[in-house]
Amino acid sequence: PRPPEDLDAPFARQCQDPRIAAAQPRENAALVMLARNSELDEARETIRNIEAQFNQWFNYPIVFLNNEPWDPVFVRELNASVSGRAIFDTIPAKDWSYPDSISPASARQSMARQAQAGVWNGGKESYHHMCRFYSGAFYTQPALAPFKWYWRLEPGVRYTCAITYDPFAAMARHGKTYGYTIALWEEPNTCPSLFRTVDAFRTAHNLPKTPSWTAMLDVPLPWYLQPYPVRKLLGFLRTPHTAPSGDRWNLCHYWSNFEIASLDFFRGEAYQSLFRHLDAQGGFYHERWGDAPVHSLAVHLLLPAGELHHFSDIGYHHEPFFQCPGNAPGEGQLPGNEALAKGRGAGWSLESEGAIGCRCQCPDQRRRNNRG
Ligand code: GDP
Ligand code: MN
Repeated sequence: PRPPEDLDAPFARQCQDPRIAAAQPRENAALVMLARNSELDEARETIRNIEAQFNQWFNYPIVFLNNEPWDPVFVRELNASVSGRAIFDTIPAKDWSYPDSISPASARQSMARQAQAGVWNGGKESYHHMCRFYSGAFYTQPALAPFKWYWRLEPGVRYTCAITYDPFAAMARHGKTYGYTIALWEEPNTCPSLFRTVDAFRTAHNLPKTPSWTAMLDVPLPWYLQPYPVRKLLGFLRTPHTAPSGDRWNLCHYWSNFEIASLDFFRGEAYQSLFRHLDAQGGFYHERWGDAPVHSLAVHLLLPAGELHHFSDIGYHHEPFFQCPGNAPGEGQLPGNEALAKGRGAGWSLESEGAIGCRCQCPDQRRRNNRG
C-alpha cells in the first residue's frame, strides 16, 4: 500500500533558480563513484552530466574509489571535470576480497555453479567482490569518514533534469535517511537465502515487524486459505525467499546505482552488525547477493518508512531503466512506454533507442546546462 502523500512528498515540483538554494550552507556530504581505470570515458560522461545538471552550482566534493591504483590519466581527466574537490582513493585489499569465513576454493565452486545456472553475473568474481564491498566496507572507507551523507554515482549514467535544490539539505530538513529513484524486483536466482538470513537477524535481535518491514513481504493468503503447518514445513525446507515463519519477501528493492543516503546510518552498529551476519553466511559468494537488496531489506528492517524518500523529481537513467519526471510547470507523471514516447514517467529502454527525451528542464535552465 502507498504511504499517505504527506509522508513522502517530492522535495521540489518545479525548476527553481539554483542560485537560491546554492546560497544556503552545504551539508557535510560527498558524491562518490566506484570505477575502474578502463571506465575513463563513462566516468567522465557521468561527471560532466552531474556537474551540468547539479554540481556546477553546489560544488560538492567527489570521491573516486578503485580496488586498484588509479591511472594518472584518469586522475588528471577527472580532476579537470569537477567544479569542487576531487578525492582519489584505493580500497584496501581486504575490503575487496573473500571474508575469512569462506575458502576461495569453495567460493569459486559456487560461482562456477552460478555461471552454469545462468545467474546474472554469478560467474564473475569481481562482481561478487563489488557487491560485498558496497554492502559493507564501502561505508567505513577512510575517504568517506569526514562526511555525513553520500550520493552514489556510476560511470555511464545520466541525470536528465536540472536539480535546482540541494538534495542533501532537503534530506536533512525532512528527517530522511535513505533516498532512491527506481524500485525493481530482484532476480530470484541471485539470492534464494537472503531474506531468510535477514529475517534470522531480525528474530535474533527481537526486532519488531514494523509497517516498514511488512511492506517488503508478499501479501499473505487469507487466513482460511493458509495451511499454517504447510507454510511452516515449507520454511523448514528452505523455500527461496521464505523465512521459517512463513514470511516471504516480495523481491522489491531499490536500485542502488543511485542512492542519496546517510553514512552515519550505514556505518552505525545496527547496519554493520547486520552486514557481518550476512557476510558470515557466505551468500555474497555461495549465492550472488546484490548490494541493492541488502540495502533495501536493511532500511526497511531498521528504519521507519517515513525516513525513506523516493526522489520522484530526479530524472535518472541507468541502462536499461529510467525515471523521467516532468518538472516543468503543469507536467505530471506518466507510466511505462507512454513515458518513453512523451519523455517523462518511468520505464525501461534500450540504449540503442536513444531513449532520453526528458522535457523536464525550464527553458532558462536548458540554456545554462548546455554550457556545461
Ligand atoms: P551493474 O550496474 O550491476 O551492471 O554493475 P556495474 O558494472 O555498473 O558495476 C557497479 C559499480 O561498480 C560501477 O560503479 C562500476 O564501475 C563498479 N565496479 C564493478 N566492478 C568493478 C571492479 O572490478 N573494479 C572497480 N574498481 N569497480 C568496479
Ligand atoms: Mn551499473
